[in-house]
Formats: sequence, C-alpha cells, structure tokens
Amino acid sequence: MDQSLKLYRLLLMASAFFYLSWWFAVEALLPGSFNPFLSRLLVSAFFIFVLLGSYISKSVLARIDFWFSACYWIATIHYFYLFHENKADINWIVGAYVTVMAVCACFQSSKHLLQYCIFVLCLSLFLAFEDPFLLKTIFLPGIFTILIFSYLGLRSRLNLLASQEALKSKDEFISIASHELRTPLTSIKLQTQMTKRKLEKGDDDALDPARMKRFLDQVEKQTDRLTSLIENMLDISMISAGKLGIKKTKINFSLFLEGTVNSLSDLLAQAQCKTNFQIKPDLNINIDQFKMEQVIVNLMTNAMKYGKGKPISISLADSKREIILIIQDHGIGIAKENQERIFQRFERAISAKDISGMGLGLYICQQFVEAHGGSIRVESIVGQGSSFTVRLPL
Ligand code: ADP
Repeated sequence: MDQSLKLYRLLLMASAFFYLSWWFAVEALLPGSFNPFLSRLLVSAFFIFVLLGSYISKSVLARIDFWFSACYWIATIHYFYLFHENKADINWIVGAYVTVMAVCACFQSSKHLLQYCIFVLCLSLFLAFEDPFLLKTIFLPGIFTILIFSYLGLRSRLNLLASQEALKSKDEFISIASHELRTPLTSIKLQTQMTKRKLEKGDDDALDPARMKRFLDQVEKQTDRLTSLIENMLDISMISAGKLGIKKTKINFSLFLEGTVNSLSDLLAQAQCKTNFQIKPDLNINIDQFKMEQVIVNLMTNAMKYGKGKPISISLADSKREIILIIQDHGIGIAKENQERIFQRFERAISAKDISGMGLGLYICQQFVEAHGGSIRVESIVGQGSSFTVRLPL
C-alpha cells in the first residue's frame, strides 16, 4: 500500500494542478469560451480535499482508492458538462474520456475500471436523451466501453483458465512425483527388510557376498533413480522461475558424447541394449556441459526404457552452421498425434501402469537445447522405434 499511496497522492496533486492550469490556458488561448471558473475551482478543490484527507482522516486513507475514483468520476461529469455547451467539438469528450480511462486503467483494478465504464455509458446516454444532438458524441465512448468490456471479459477468462490449469498441473505433479519417489523407496525398504529378517534369524545366506553385491547394486540403482528424479524436479523449478543459467565452455563434443554414453554402460547392460556409434571425431562446440549431459542421459534413458532389448544408434555429424546428434532406438515408437505434445510438461504417450515416468525428461531436454539456441525433434513409427534429433548451433 505504501507505494500505491504515494502514487495516489502524486496523481491527486498533479490532477488538481493541471485542472486549474488548464482553465488559465483555455481562458488565455480562447477568450470567452465556455469554461466556468467556479466549476473548475470546485473540481480542483475536491482533488485537494481528498489529498489532504488522506493525511488527516484515517477513513479517507483506508478508502483512498474509493476517493481517488470519486475525484475522476466528478472530473468526468465536469468534462461532459463542459462539452454540453460546446456541442460542435466532439474531440473534447472523446479526449477526456480516453485520458481519464487511461489513468484509471493503469492504476486501478478491473472492478474500478468496469464501474467507470458503466458510469460513463450511463452519463452519455443521459446526455443523449436530454439533447438528441449529443447522440453522435456517445458513439465513440460507447465503442471504447464495449472494447474495454470485451478486454476485461477476455482477461478474466484467461486468468481463470490459467489458474485452473496451474492448479491442475500442480495436483498432477504432486501425485505423479509422490508415486515416482515412492517406487524406489519401497524397493529399497523391501530389500532391507528381507536382509534384516534373514540376519535376525541367523541365516548366513544374508551375508553371502554374491547376495550382498546384488542387494547393494539394487540400492545403488534405486538411489540413482531417486537422484535423477530429484534433479529433474529441481530443473523444472529452475525453468519455471526463469533461472536457467547456461554456462558455456568449449569442449570436444565427440569425446564428451562417447564418454557420457559409456558412463551408462551398466544401465545399457541391464536393459540389454547394444550401442552403435557413428561419431564424427573432434567436433568442438561451446556448450553448457552439465545441461547437455542431462539431455544425452535423458534421451538414452528413454531409448533404454522404451526400447528394452533392442539396439540404440548414436550418431554425430556437422554441417556448416550446426552439429547434429541423433539417438535412435528400435522400441515401441510414438504415434504421430503424440509426437508434438510429449515435449510439454507432464505429457506422456503411455500409461504409468505400463512404464512409469513423470513426463518431464523431454520437456527439460527441449528447454536446455533451446537455451543453447538449438532444436530437438522426433521421428517415429509405432512398433518400429523413435529417432530424436538434436541440433546445436556452432
Ligand atoms: P517419461 O519418460 O518420464 O514419461 P519424458 O518426457 O522423457 O518422460 O517422455 C515423455 C513421453 O514420451 C514418454 O512418457 C513416452 O510416452 C514418450 N517417449 C519418450 N521417449 C520415447 C522413446 N524413445 N520411445 C517411445 N516413446 C518415448
């Protein structure tokens, strides 16, 4: 309120000053025009009263927005009144209406603006009935009023839709995220409980090195999954907050790509996916290494997840202006109608019952690639596999 109170006071002060000085200006430029001193003085005095009232009276201060509107409503009546005696000059009324509305619009709420529009419309109609000549003068204010109404209606409808959408995706996100986070935790808990029970029973098998290794491998796998889920969630919040900082360094992308894919060798072995490389050596590029690593890992994880047991081809080439990375699997594929929407947040083309996921990976990939000035797209045939192409400018 502090800041807006300052603004209200400033506007009231400026209005009183301009309202009075306009009288002097018009009187000097157009001697004898209809511009009664008393009414102009009264309107200016009202602005000053409200201004002083905001310092003296607590009730004026508490309802400063109401008193501010009252000043402009009265000023508008005065404009109309002046115009009434200057029937030939339509610019007066339109100019006054638009100016006053602009002040209200930039400063007051939609509710105030709406009330003001209705008020001006009623005032115009009243004048039109009183003097049919004025009918043509309400045409423009009428149009403006309709435009403002439409604008307000549209804006509140869009706001409503956006907030409904935001609520829906928040709920969806919470339910998907809790399900996704619970799955690895449940698996770790089950394995730990089983081992604990065996130990309590004095079963030596619990400490068998081969069994122990399997157990630790499982725990490691599930904690990796948890880490990547949490990383994705953090990325999403960074993207939503518009804080996606890209820190570029020049790297040998060919080596980097090969290294990143090789770091997934355990997962590739588990998914029984062989890899074929077709990488043009020594392609150097300026990129954010960590963000691009996430892109490669996300695309490779998807290729393993949706193409279990099938080979994955990774190719890297360049053209004059860009490098082109293609990750191709031979998995379940994506239907044409889903190929665009899977890059949006929470969008999936498969039920969570069949293959679990949050629908965030591709969204994050697209955001990261676009932040580098590049693009990502998919080509796919259901049942035959998918091919994701990432283009990064050199
Ligand atoms: P998630 O895999 O967690 O659901 P993504 O954003 O990575 O989230 O993928 C969105 C959707 O796109 C997936 O749910 C899946 O339906 C589809 N998809 C992504 N990659 C592939 C792929 N390689 N093969 C088939 N479908 C895929």
